[in-house]
Formats: sequence, C-alpha cells, structure tokens
Amino acid sequence: MTPGARPDGASALCVVDLRTWILDIPLIRPHKFATAEMDTQAVLLVRLEVEDGTVGWGEGVVPGGPWWGGESIEGMEVLVNRYLAPQVIGHDVLGVEALALRLAKVAGGAPFARAGVEMAAWDAAGRALGVPVHQLLGGRHRDRLPVTWAMGAEPADVLVAEAQHLLDTGRHGSFKLKMGAMPAEQDVLRVAKVAEAIGDRARISVDLNGSWDEHAARRWLPVLAEAGVTLVEQPLPAAHTGGLASLRDNSSLAIMADESVWTASDAIRIAQDRSADAFALKIAKSGGIRSVRQVAAVAEAAGIGCYGGTTIETSLGTAASAHVFSSTASLDWGTELFGPLILADDITNEPAVYRDGNLLMQAGPGFGVTIDEDKVAKYGRV
Ligand code: MN
Repeated sequence: MTPGARPDGASALCVVDLRTWILDIPLIRPHKFATAEMDTQAVLLVRLEVEDGTVGWGEGVVPGGPWWGGESIEGMEVLVNRYLAPQVIGHDVLGVEALALRLAKVAGGAPFARAGVEMAAWDAAGRALGVPVHQLLGGRHRDRLPVTWAMGAEPADVLVAEAQHLLDTGRHGSFKLKMGAMPAEQDVLRVAKVAEAIGDRARISVDLNGSWDEHAARRWLPVLAEAGVTLVEQPLPAAHTGGLASLRDNSSLAIMADESVWTASDAIRIAQDRSADAFALKIAKSGGIRSVRQVAAVAEAAGIGCYGGTTIETSLGTAASAHVFSSTASLDWGTELFGPLILADDITNEPAVYRDGNLLMQAGPGFGVTIDEDKVAKYGRV
C-alpha cells in the first residue's frame, strides 16, 4: 500500500505540507500559578495543507512554560518539524485516528506537541468534508459552554474587586482561584476572604497545582469548605492519588484531578481507586482530541464528573476545546475556556464570542476559525 492510500481502496486526501510558527501573545494582566508567573503566552501554531488545497490549523500550548508538564514551546517546535511532520505528510487526513496513533508511536511522552498536530488534522478533515468537527465526533449536546473565570494568586482585595465587577456586569458566575504560591495559612486566609465576600453569589473553586501535602490538605480543606469553597483541584502532587482518595473520603469538598489524569489509563486507575469526583479535561495534556475523549469516556462509565480545562489557548485552541466539550455528554462542572479573554489580542478572524458567562460556538467547517496572517507576522518569534 502506498503512503496515503486507504485500505478500502478509496482515494485518499493526503497531507502535502506542514508548517509551524511560534507566536508570543501578551496577556491583559500577569497570571500567577503556584510556581510560575506569565505575562505573555507562547503558542506553537501548526498549519497543515492537504492535496486538494484545504488548510487546517492547530495550536500547541503549555500553560506559561515547562513547569506544568515538562514540554516547552521551543522543544515542541523541534519535535513537530523533525519527528511528527514526517508521520503526517503523505497520509490521509481523513484517517485522524490512525494519524494520532502514528504520532503517539514516535513521541508518546510529548502530548502537548502531538496535540497541536492532531488538532490541525481534525480541522483539515472537517474543512475537507465541509462539516464542523463536533459532527465528526458524533454531534454536540450544547451550543454554548459555561465559563469559569480563573483568577491569579493576587491579594484578596484585588480578587474581590475583580470578581464583583465580573458578577455585576453579568460576565461570569463562577470563579477558580489559583493557590500554592505562598505559605498555606496565609493562602487560605486570602481565599477564605474572597469566598466569604462573594461565595453566596458565585461558585468558588481553588487549584493548588499539586502544591500541598496530605497534612496541609487535612488541616486546611475544612477551612476552605467552611468559607464557601465547593471544589478543590489537584491539592496533592500528581502521583499521590491514594492521598486524593483519602481526602475525598473525609472532605465535603469535591476533589478534581488535573495533573493526576492525562490519559485514559490514568482515568481508569483513579476511577478504580475512587480518588476524584471530577476530571479536568484538556486536549493538550492528553495528546489530542482522540485521547481526551477516551478520558471523558472513562469518566462517563465511572460516574465521574467532567470539567473543560484550559492550557490558556487562543480563539483557535478554545474553539477546538469547545467542539470536544460540547460533544462530551456530561460536563457537570462547566469549563474554564477563558484563554481569549486573558490574551490582549486575537490571532483569528473569528474571535471567541462570550455572552452572559458562556462561550458561544462558531458556525462553519472544521473548528469554524481561521488565522489572521497579519497577526502571525506581528507576534511571530524571529
Ligand atoms: Mn489545574
């Protein structure tokens, strides 16, 4: 069989070109995590062209550097161009499942890089067939997605003012606060102040990014619950799923796994150990749309809730996430697809549209989003 030929003998739609750019896009304000702070977001933009002239776009992103998962934007560029592109060029773009497996075979440990390439293939497949990607995934359950606003690790008064403004203007009804950048006691008092000020008007969740140990979690989670926080994301390091199970047994807070759940195999283990009430789904950490849907399938089978997470994507990656999360049957915890709201500029011709705390889905084939090439020139790294 020649490369690109299909086993059923049908004519293939082969990929003929793959290109990448690194873009550095400023944020509207610095965003602080437990161990990193970012004031620009770097994006690896992937452009894939098919033999009939169809173009698909994808993006690889990590949240503000390699601290989260070990991959960097610069490393991803090398992986994509040197190792992943040869797996894609000459192959049928309509066979995205097979393409995803080929990518996993050459760079299994680099899900963020693989996700950018696979995303471009889904977009090209949808565009070549003239259908939105959610239809390739079996169709969507909803055309708008609730969006939690993620707050940085700033002092309480700054966060209360920010939250009150967003509530008063009807822009968000739920908030996620980053924790872990300061000693636990000080951090908990800061968050408790915010929860007490706005907890009756909004859902408050917190994300520790794995920065506590079990003792700190036993000591402080009840204080957060008492103040009105309802969900805690990844209080313990990724590998400590046994500890998550014991916190789950002993806390009224919902426990969400993020760094602990990358793949369907992780999801099965967590489901068996009863370590989480909810999974944060992210296309990037799972290595693409095929794999994140497997995580969602395990969640559905195990009765675990799903949450549409972000690695701070542009309107392109946000649209891709919206296609996946809208076609996920149960999305009990909503999403945090706020990327385009925290980026100071948009690189697409169809910027993400938000209304009353929801992300509205774009119409059109693929992800419904095209790239503004002037913005690529403006933000492209030279
Ligand atoms: Mn998280």
